[in-house]
Amino acid sequence: MAQQFDLIAIGGGSGGLAVAEKAAQFGQRVAIIEAAQLGGTCVNAGCVPKKIMWYAANLATAVANAPKFGIDTTGGALNWATLVTGRDRYVANINQYWDQYVTELGITRITGRAHFVDAHTVAVDEQQYSAPHIVIATGGRPIVPRMPGAELGIDSDGFFKLQTQPKRVAIVGGGYIGVELAGVLRAFGTEVTVVALEDRLLWLFDPLISATLRENMNAHGIETRLEFAVAELSQDADGLALVAQNGERLSGFDQIIWAVGRTPNTRDLGLETAGVTVQPNGIIPTDAYQNTNISGIYALGDVAGREPLTPVAVAAGRRLAERLFNGKPDLKLDYDNIPTVVFTHPPLGKVGLTEPEARQRFGDTLTIYETAFTPMRYALNAHGATTAMKLVCAGAEERVVGIHLIGDGVDEMLQGFAVAVKMGATKADLDATVAIHPCSAEELVTLKTPVRRPGEMQ
Ligand SMILES: Cc1cc2nc3c(=O)[nH]c(=O)nc-3n(C[C@H](O)[C@H](O)[C@H](O)COP(=O)(O)OP(=O)(O)OC[C@H]3O[C@@H](n4cnc5c(N)ncnc54)[C@H](O)[C@@H]3O)c2cc1C
Repeated sequence: MAQQFDLIAIGGGSGGLAVAEKAAQFGQRVAIIEAAQLGGTCVNAGCVPKKIMWYAANLATAVANAPKFGIDTTGGALNWATLVTGRDRYVANINQYWDQYVTELGITRITGRAHFVDAHTVAVDEQQYSAPHIVIATGGRPIVPRMPGAELGIDSDGFFKLQTQPKRVAIVGGGYIGVELAGVLRAFGTEVTVVALEDRLLWLFDPLISATLRENMNAHGIETRLEFAVAELSQDADGLALVAQNGERLSGFDQIIWAVGRTPNTRDLGLETAGVTVQPNGIIPTDAYQNTNISGIYALGDVAGREPLTPVAVAAGRRLAERLFNGKPDLKLDYDNIPTVVFTHPPLGKVGLTEPEARQRFGDTLTIYETAFTPMRYALNAHGATTAMKLVCAGAEERVVGIHLIGDGVDEMLQGFAVAVKMGATKADLDATVAIHPCSAEELVTLKTPVRRPGEMQ
């Protein structure tokens, strides 16, 4: 006989934990079904271990820069084992926190892989569980394309399992995971080549950010090869090789990392049994309230195919629980103006529309302000990283519809500016804000002359 709950979350990652936590706090009988560790991708193979390594990479860069500031350092090779042991211990602590917290909340934790038996029942092995509300929050996994030798590469999950520092790495993919891993490895002294199919890195970001990122990566010794269509991986005498469709060959790598995107975990869920619609790419379509096409079944987080970010999954989960169990029937997540940061070296981020997106929406009413400079952080170093900033403003009132940043400190800078964009700030509001000096952020409130694009009226 099926065990009864009010809500079942399939997946104990960012989204599943968020909806389960809130539902339990509202007094509901809740179960979480998780195949692996609680915390999901973010905690175990995403944001958290990545950010630990990003901090380590920043420290390595700071040590390299320190002598010019008069600080005597004896630079040493990175002890990879110390770093990954500390990182993994930190992750294990978060896993333990969730195990304990879920128990304290009275949530039933079920370990295993769930699949639907009918629209209100799922099974793990032989045991069945029923609820009027079932939330699919199964996230995604890295894509490894089908081609000869594909298995010679590792994916981002494999990167976090590396026990020794690779010395020469090719990263396939110019999306955010590819450029983040490239920056970390390079700061540790690994030789890195990034190849991308597209004609620019981070093609979903503003062109100014893509161009400045590439410039910064190249200046730090990362080779970037764009419009490089990988057709094959092979094991050569001098190491691993990438072979392009046009026959070009890059060789001598000791690791090749696939970073070509992620695909939703929907294949073995038995969604057809429950009648849930799935797109051919595995995404479960939902309405603005996270409802699937079947009443009582919801999808959120990466599996629902919107912004694949932890805070988005968390926010959608919390709002869903508020809507179902706390008398807020109209509550839903507003997916507009979601800020995001990419932890490159230096970091970059955006909120709102890129210039091309804004031009499509607002046409000629756009005003663009931008700047590029070397921040004071590098005042005494011969080579620094370029900081670049762009404001995209629309209409006669110059409402800020996009902010695009790359440079040291922008990861912490963007959140506050995202509040301003969400509130409908105009350029005049930014101008009316007194600058904080000396720092990079002050540039955003002191931008003067709009950029003229070729062909624009003066
Ligand atoms: C390398 C990397 C870096 C990232 N960095 C960032 C970052 O800096 N900031 C950010 O916001 N986001 C980042 N992300 C994205 C972020 O991790 C995801 O957006 C987020 O984890 C999505 O949450 P989710 O709940 O949808 O899925 P997940 O967190 O992936 O959780 C899904 C869970 O479901 C489980 N599961 C799957 N199928 C089943 C089943 N049938 N039965 C039971 N359990 C199942 C899985 O084991 C998993 O634990 C990163 C991702 C990666 C890969």
